[in-house]
Amino acid sequence: MAYLVNGNDIFKAARENHYAVGAYNTNNLEWTRALLRGAKETRTPLLIQVSTGAAKYMGGYKTVKDLVLNEMNNMDIDVPVILNLDHGDFESAKECIALGYSSVMFDGHNLPTDENLAKTKEIVKLAHERGISVEAEIGKIGENQGADGGELASVEDAKTFVAAGVDKLACGIGNIHGVYPEGWTGLNFDRLKEIAEAVPNEPLVLHGGSGIPQDQIEKAIQLGIAKININTEFQLAFQAATRKYIEDKMDLDKGNKGYDPRKLLRAGTDAITDSMKEMISWMGTAPIDSKESSVQFDEASLNEE
Ligand SMILES: [Zn+2]
Repeated sequence: MAYLVNGNDIFKAARENHYAVGAYNTNNLEWTRALLRGAKETRTPLLIQVSTGAAKYMGGYKTVKDLVLNEMNNMDIDVPVILNLDHGDFESAKECIALGYSSVMFDGHNLPTDENLAKTKEIVKLAHERGISVEAEIGKIGENQGADGGELASVEDAKTFVAAGVDKLACGIGNIHGVYPEGWTGLNFDRLKEIAEAVPNEPLVLHGGSGIPQDQIEKAIQLGIAKININTEFQLAFQAATRKYIEDKMDLDKGNKGYDPRKLLRAGTDAITDSMKEMISWMGTAPIDSKESSVQFDEASLNEE
């Protein structure tokens, strides 16, 4: 039966061996299947994550977890899968811990630093009691506006949050959620390098991975980024393929039932998997049977169902 892993070994192996593992957001049934298929076909580990908004859309955190596990069974998924809450607040992080997500991100960046740290520690305690991994955000990731990209993470905060027990650290280093604006100044590699040296063992996370040029992605991975969050890239791939399906008038082909949602959504769904495979090659994600992954997945299992 399908089970989830917390991914700590996976991301540690990635940082050690200078590759990254993608963290991909799901939005619905098709997205979930497209991501599971991409992982199965490339034999790479998969982190599926859900934002609070997408979880609400899909019917709640339990619906998302049940969907992922059921599809893992249906699709005979034999690569490790991590289910992560993306940008959770305190309440949603606690809810996902109770539900048995294998990883949660507690995003307290808009709280005063003391309160963020105190709440992060509480989440770490609750999560670690159950073998669940925790990600925190330091600095501020930009929000699709302003070419300077949010607020830089400080080296001091990196050390403090790692000392608080955080397993993965999302750093503001000029990265931005959504589409990168004209005139974006690029990633701040000097700061990334300082943080990576201050916390030499913890996997660092790059949010807003969609639309960053390949050479910057590769450099960030060399410096310590081990998890790259990708969402917009796949939304754009889905949108372009769906637009083409309709512009080619395939939805009007009544003989072939081109209007059937299962057919209407097929091209977009395939495009997500194709785009994912391209990102996996950019990030150099090691297949599970390669020596670079060097992870004992059975031992890391939790939440057996
Ligand atoms: Zn993010």
